[in-house]
Amino acid sequence: MDGSWRPSLDTGSILVLNPATERVLATVAAGGAADVDAAVAAARRAARAWGATTREERLAPLTRLRDGLAAHQEEITATVVAELGAPVGFAAAVHAGLPLTVAGSYLTLLADHPFEERIGNSVVFAEPAGVVAAITPWNYPLHQIVAKVVPALAAGCPVVLKPAEDTPLVARLFARLVHEAGFPAGVFNLVTGTGPAAGAALAAHPGVDVVSFTGSTAVGRSVAETAGRGIKRVALELGGKSANVVLPGADLARAVNANVANVFANSGQTCSAWTRLLVHSDRYEEAVALAAKAAGKYRPGDPADPQTRVGPLVSARQRERVRGFITGALAEGARLVVGGAGAPDGLATGYYVRPTVLAGVTADMAVAREEVFGPVLAMLAYRDEDHAAELANATEYGLAGGVWAADTATAAAFARRLDAGQIDLNGGRFNPLAPFGGYKNSGLGRELGRHGLEEFLQYKSLQY
Ligand code: NAD
Repeated sequence: MDGSWRPSLDTGSILVLNPATERVLATVAAGGAADVDAAVAAARRAARAWGATTREERLAPLTRLRDGLAAHQEEITATVVAELGAPVGFAAAVHAGLPLTVAGSYLTLLADHPFEERIGNSVVFAEPAGVVAAITPWNYPLHQIVAKVVPALAAGCPVVLKPAEDTPLVARLFARLVHEAGFPAGVFNLVTGTGPAAGAALAAHPGVDVVSFTGSTAVGRSVAETAGRGIKRVALELGGKSANVVLPGADLARAVNANVANVFANSGQTCSAWTRLLVHSDRYEEAVALAAKAAGKYRPGDPADPQTRVGPLVSARQRERVRGFITGALAEGARLVVGGAGAPDGLATGYYVRPTVLAGVTADMAVAREEVFGPVLAMLAYRDEDHAAELANATEYGLAGGVWAADTATAAAFARRLDAGQIDLNGGRFNPLAPFGGYKNSGLGRELGRHGLEEFLQYKSLQY
């Protein structure tokens, strides 16, 4: 904080556990309101000078930060394997690699952005939106930090980051890299602590101008209420219950295999995961057989083993929640295809859940409506395209989705009927420059690319 590491003004601490071994990895400070006050004060002191820097003056330390992320890929990977339980291959590619790509994308965007634009008789300046509070979850812990902090710094905003209490170690590593990149004191500040103490104090702080929050819809709602009282700008990336719709004529095997891989990645702890697979009733049983075959290949195991594709969940709390969803779905009449609520064979220690496929799921079941956040695929049958669109849209969420059809034009036409922020057509790849964010209760605002940078800018027009 303010250019150096400081002990917390509060006396509490948080135990960080390894979810594969249940052993204590480290303890970090449980910061509270006094720490948040000090961090926000440091950010406010830095705000005017950082906001007045030229883009070149911001590009220099941001380039060093990107280089620091590149030079520490192995340390980042090892940290995320240890504190999140992500399999090492996935951790290297996604938890370490994706933040590097995103940080790199903002160097180009910052170099090219029109911070000054003539519109008729006006000159419009894009100015920093002020002090940013970034509150992040544990599921993609470094990506979510980078997707907020890097564009905020690029826009000229100082930041106070409150990372998730389950994964604070990668946040501390990131803070070290920011420090080594040579940003002025107070431009970046980290407060570790719990949500109800440090997070709530930060979201409510009168010295904060923008709250950028990623997490659950329940907490997002309370953050938005608090921000509303303070007339703070708020960006929310919240939960999801995304549907993957396989239209008649699509390559069913490809669509089902891709869905199984998608929903089991990161142990299902992905807000945009395709947790619902929608298949026409004529080919439904064929799809169930394909899903059973694909899912049977995913055996949970030690995340440090390069062969492992599914690790544990992040915490005992999440494991119990996910097991509850599986038990509940079976009680409501769903059919167990693969997996189940019991511990995977030979894995009594660690927060493991069996990768699970449920068939016969109907729209009224909790597993079809609520975010499970575990390796659980719910398969639903539809009658016709209208019914498929109705089912896909029948949740409070609207984050992401997939559409598979005989050709991408048909898939694109159907995708326009879905209330969701980003939809992959016939397995289209993730694009880190495209806006990412939700419709409906999945959030407000967008991250990534130019749209992500604009979340941290406000506009001043001078009329001539
Ligand atoms: P969470 O809402 O419990 O916590 C997220 C962050 O908010 C943490 O840092 C936490 O400490 C903090 N927090 C908790 N209570 C707070 C309060 N009262 N005031 C301020 N901050 C508080 O969510 P989680 O369990 O850590 O993360 C999982 C959730 O995040 C899922 O619902 C998932 O869908 C969502 N998510 C969304 C996206 C997206 O981009 N839409 C991405 C990843 C995760």
